[in-house]
Amino acid sequence: MDQRVVECVPNFSEGRDRAKIKQITDAIEAVRGVTLLDVDPGADTNRTVVTFVGDPDAVADGAFQAIARAAQVLDMRQHHGAHPRIGATDVCPFVPIAGVTMEECAALARRVGERVGREIEIPVYLYEAAASRPERKNLATIRKGEYEGLAEKLRDRDWTPDFGPARFHPKAGATVVGAREFLIAYNVTLNTRDKALAMDIAFELREKGRVARAVTGSSFYSKGKVLIYKEGAYPCGNCDCVGATFAETAAHCRERHGYDLEALLRSNDLDPSKPLAGQKVYRAGTFTHCKAIGWYVDQYKRAQISINLTNYKVTPPHLVLEEARRLATARGLVVTGSEVVGLIPYPALLEAGRYYLRAQGKSPFIPAADVLQTAVFSMGLADVSPFDIARKVIGLPRGSEAGLVQMTVREFTDEVSRDTPAPGGGSVAALGGALGAALASMVANLWQGKVEPPGSEAALLGAAEMAQRAKDQLILAVDEDTQAFNAYMEARRLPAHTPEEKAHREQKMQEGLKRAVEVPYRTAQASLLAMQAAWAAAQHGSVSSITDAAVGAQAGFAGVRGGIWNVLINLKDIADAAFVRDMRQQCDALLRDATALLAQVSAHVDRRLAEQIAMP
Ligand SMILES: [Zn+2]
Repeated sequence: MDQRVVECVPNFSEGRDRAKIKQITDAIEAVRGVTLLDVDPGADTNRTVVTFVGDPDAVADGAFQAIARAAQVLDMRQHHGAHPRIGATDVCPFVPIAGVTMEECAALARRVGERVGREIEIPVYLYEAAASRPERKNLATIRKGEYEGLAEKLRDRDWTPDFGPARFHPKAGATVVGAREFLIAYNVTLNTRDKALAMDIAFELREKGRVARAVTGSSFYSKGKVLIYKEGAYPCGNCDCVGATFAETAAHCRERHGYDLEALLRSNDLDPSKPLAGQKVYRAGTFTHCKAIGWYVDQYKRAQISINLTNYKVTPPHLVLEEARRLATARGLVVTGSEVVGLIPYPALLEAGRYYLRAQGKSPFIPAADVLQTAVFSMGLADVSPFDIARKVIGLPRGSEAGLVQMTVREFTDEVSRDTPAPGGGSVAALGGALGAALASMVANLWQGKVEPPGSEAALLGAAEMAQRAKDQLILAVDEDTQAFNAYMEARRLPAHTPEEKAHREQKMQEGLKRAVEVPYRTAQASLLAMQAAWAAAQHGSVSSITDAAVGAQAGFAGVRGGIWNVLINLKDIADAAFVRDMRQQCDALLRDATALLAQVSAHVDRRLAEQIAMP
């Protein structure tokens, strides 16, 4: 039940007529479960970049509605602009943000592409991670010839569209749909106005690397003499090795330094298939999926290393920052902080925070808000401009900004005690489970790395991770349970005068009941995780915290038991026999496991306590 978030960034061939752009974004916003994050029109390019997020199904529908609307309101026959384009909806990438894989986004792209081709009859090409063949991976290749060359391209059998008719659509052109990674625009700020110093570090970091120079012993690389390829002498550029042939040096770079020299030269506009004697030697930078340059920002009165990270899962911002800090120190420079331009995905910032916590010998499995705050402080993200986590981080877990969990303990307890049926046992069970998970996490984090034997450390870390996950899910379930109950109550109030109304009401009530069953079932599941974490904490934590772990297991059991009772009371009214049978079996298994685990924890804790008391 982790939240699943996909971002969609369609580009439309209209950047001047606000009314037309609004018609398109209205179509996106009309889809339930979609949040429009940004609309960025460009007059020169005559193009608008739209960003929206949501769960995969909602985002797929939002993308389709936008493409359909763009095909109605835009006309490519009238379009002129400074940016290459092939259609009204020029390109539409899906980007995994949280709880979703790249493969799932590629499948989403194929689904939307198929629907666009079938329902709107626009030719669709798939690109990047969704590409149907290697030569269609690159967007620029697909777009070559642009809208004006599309009619001819469609006659070429190599360019049969992946979906839709191989027939020119004069009004909408073609649409390129695909899946790619999130691009993080990230700047590292230096305590200097000297752009050249920022540039020097940027060249060390970026995949494209730099011109190689002879080593001088100075930390200022630019002091060394530029190396040149000569007939019979091909320097590596990273070390003293000089190959007799280019092939020898290329092999050396691959084996010793782990990069493809030919690709590196091509990215620096050199053709390795031609004689290289007389050309400058290049060497690769530290990070792949990393573009970087140095620049001076007048607003900040400082130079920055301006970085684009095209795959943060391979090259995360915090590792690039740490390397920049190391290189800066060697040059007598100071990194004063860093800056995220636009948005950063939640998993990227979470991973950064955990990296610094680990480096400090702390548990990385503490409340997510604390982890994110650690990342903001460690990376100096508020150095040149404010960093508001709620605004800058994309895919933040659904908040508990409103609702029951925002109440004080006193208010919540009073609310439960009032003469209204909700919140009731389901919400209380979820809160019980959440508190159990919190206690398990506390014990695990408190004694991580401090108790013998050393193997306990891994067990306690695992327990803390599991407990944090269970806690976050259960806290959400406190409100979800009440809402699930509300959906059923609303359905009951529907009119039932005609047979059609009766059938509709019955259907909505059945849906409400299934929803009201799913929430407590997930409460029971997550509460069992809380109990497992508490058991690990009781076994591996210090005996001085053992009663905390025991209370955690008891509270977790209340979550399991309470969740299951709430499933059962709603099951009796559900007509779908297979669903009922399946749910009963699952609940029986959960209850068996939880009961055995509770007995195990209790026996263990009682035994350890008896040992303590018996000691002189
Ligand atoms: Zn070398």
